[in-house]
Amino acid sequence: MHELAITEYVFNLVKKQADANNVSHVDKIHLLIGDQCDYVPEIIEEYLKVMSEGTSLEGVKVDATVKESMISCKDCGNEFTRHQFDSTCPSCGSDNLKLKRCTDFIVKNIEVS
Ligand SMILES: [Zn+2]
Repeated sequence: MHELAITEYVFNLVKKQADANNVSHVDKIHLLIGDQCDYVPEIIEEYLKVMSEGTSLEGVKVDATVKESMISCKDCGNEFTRHQFDSTCPSCGSDNLKLKRCTDFIVKNIEVS
């Protein structure tokens, strides 16, 4: 349930922007999420639904783009996506791999009315 913390972050960030720009209603939030973060956009949307009640974000939709993360091999330096990942490096067969941490989580854009 680690989506709760990130949803609070998104909510506060967007709310602040909306208030600062005198936005009457936020319709949609576009997110970019790295797949290594393991956030489920539907859960973020559910939490937002609850948090946004009675605010300018009420009923806001979430549009998420998932960005495929890269894994690098510590032995040969090869980089590949988790997609191709089968517990060993596809190039040298090493299992000495470095999985990148969750660094991609961006509020790309908001749609307002
Ligand atoms: Zn390798």
